[in-house]
Amino acid sequence: MAKILVIEDEPKTANAIRSGLRGEGYDATVAKTGEDGFFQLNAEPFDLVVLDWMLPGRDGIEILKALRARGAKTPVLLLTARDAIEDRVLGLDSGADDYLVKPFAFAELLARVRALLRRVGDTDIFRKQISDLVLDLENRRVKRGSQEISVTPREFDLLAYFVRHHGQTVTRHMLAKDVWREPRRATPLDNVIDVHIAHLRRKVDEGQRAKLIHTVNRRA
Ligand code: CA
Repeated sequence: MAKILVIEDEPKTANAIRSGLRGEGYDATVAKTGEDGFFQLNAEPFDLVVLDWMLPGRDGIEILKALRARGAKTPVLLLTARDAIEDRVLGLDSGADDYLVKPFAFAELLARVRALLRRVGDTDIFRKQISDLVLDLENRRVKRGSQEISVTPREFDLLAYFVRHHGQTVTRHMLAKDVWREPRRATPLDNVIDVHIAHLRRKVDEGQRAKLIHTVNRRA
């Protein structure tokens, strides 16, 4: 699982990126200041950094330059509201591997993240396996044993979330928040979630001796 550090001072943006990345199966951590981010980067290895340019204290460019100055090759995706050509040039010249202008669509952030991680060349971070179930996170394909399973995009997201939380109990509340990402929705998603899980269970577990998706009923 790829470890990603998100250095972003704006809490709403930082939390949205973190939960979105986690929903995709990445191990995402947030640092709220450049100093904290730099400290974390020195303390443990990360596979990728999502770095906001405008930060209080040391800004993103300073962090980036300091990181490159000490020889770190960690891919850095720079986020910024500044999209003049000279800003892009400065960002890339300072050692950013890619550049994303705010506001951006989350799908685009994900695509950039995938592309940068692919460039690093570690294909294993895109492959998750539990028992004989294999998820290809890059091509969004699922196999159980040698059998390819066809899933909808939402089912894939759901399954990836289960795989990421392997061995843990996942609540409908978590799924509504992290997979559906509709916190302001007026009606509860419980029925929608149940239907998706039922479909997924049929596709993944039906006819298999070992069941991989288990229900925990809290109301005894
Ligand atoms: Ca900022």
